[in-house]
Amino acid sequence: MRVGIGYDSHRFSASSSLVLGGIHIPDSPGLSGHSDGDAVLHALIDALLGAASLGSIGERFPDDDPAYAGADSAVLLTTAMGWLREAGYGVVNADITVITERPRIQPHASSMKLRIGELLGIGAAAVSVKGKSNEGMGWIGRGEGLAAFAIASIDQLPGSGDSPRD
Ligand SMILES: [Zn+2]
Repeated sequence: MRVGIGYDSHRFSASSSLVLGGIHIPDSPGLSGHSDGDAVLHALIDALLGAASLGSIGERFPDDDPAYAGADSAVLLTTAMGWLREAGYGVVNADITVITERPRIQPHASSMKLRIGELLGIGAAAVSVKGKSNEGMGWIGRGEGLAAFAIASIDQLPGSGDSPRD
């Protein structure tokens, strides 16, 4: 069993619609970024790559690569999942905290869990999504952007690797 941690932040932008945790959230400004700006999936990708010692999202999906301009982060996550499987790992669970003053995360948490569980090939019950405000402090408090932390645990897939399983 291995664990990894990921963090990401993006600035709000009036020019796009909000995609977070793989779902579209209406009536909220979008996030700026080279891809769709989905900080939740980006933090999760970094947690997964970190757990498997496969580098980072910045190395794997360079933001100066035109291939990733406006990219759907769900596709990036699916690509990362392929690398994990090639390395012999499957995901056990993921826990995510989103820090933002708005939108409120709780009303969207179950949809995010469902979508992320689908993308990771695990059930929604193995995914946790929690929202926190920053109590009005700093750049998050001023509503300039949002941040996400993710932790993921992974385990060797049956039949892969040399170590015997119980
Ligand atoms: Zn990002």
